[in-house]
Formats: sequence, C-alpha cells, structure tokens
Amino acid sequence: MDKQVRMEIRRANGTRAVTKPVQKVIGPEYSMSFVCFECKTSNMRQYDVTPCDYPNSSVCPVCGNTTINLGRNFKPPKKSDLAQWKKVKFLVDNGFVFQKIRVERNSIESIPYPETLSEAKEFVVRYRKWAIKRAI
Ligand SMILES: [Zn+2]
Repeated sequence: MDKQVRMEIRRANGTRAVTKPVQKVIGPEYSMSFVCFECKTSNMRQYDVTPCDYPNSSVCPVCGNTTINLGRNFKPPKKSDLAQWKKVKFLVDNGFVFQKIRVERNSIESIPYPETLSEAKEFVVRYRKWAIKRAI
C-alpha cells in the first residue's frame, strides 16, 4: 500500500484531518530605498507593515551607520558620482526625501526632482511648502 492510498483511507475514516491549503497572506510587496550617505549605498528593504508605517531610518548593512528611507521613487547615483550624492544629501537635509511633490490638487502630475546641486538649491526654496520635517 503506498503512501497516497494510506492517506486517502485515513482521510475517509476521519483519523486524518483534512487541512485546507494555507492561504498565503499577501502583504504589500513594497520595497523602499534606504540610503547610507556614509558609504554611498542604497538598499531596498521590505517590512511587514503598511507603507506609511515604514521606519524613517535603519542601520546600514554595509557600514553600520544610519540609513534614511527615501521611499520607492529614489534611484541611487553611482557610488563614484560625488556631485549627485552631494545633491541628494542636500535635498534630504532640506526635507526632500524623494516624496512626490504635487502642486496641483487632484493631479497625478508630480514635480521632477532637480538634476544638479544648483537646481536643488532653487528647488528647496520653491517647494519648501512640501518639505517634510521628520525625526531620523
Ligand atoms: Zn553605510
């Protein structure tokens, strides 16, 4: 008697409880970039919480310093691109953590982030209303 047959017999006489297949809980497959300015790395992280409950910061797996949550929209520059990293740091220091900036109500159009540090300097002034002040 093979295993399959024995199993069927046990199911039929009730000695083997029929279990339903486990329903996989589908959570938000929501990765966010956590950026370390110390070693200029970015790691995508997922947490088992709703996106708005993701932590603002975490620990860098590379160097152990603090990483900053820059959300889903952030694309890290090359490690060697120091000018871009400087720009990103400047934006973050001024409350621009790559959140979407929508100036028109009920519009999905968002303001593109600046390309250079000098553009970023104008950007943080122009859009200061949208700056986020949060504890790291
Ligand atoms: Zn690091």
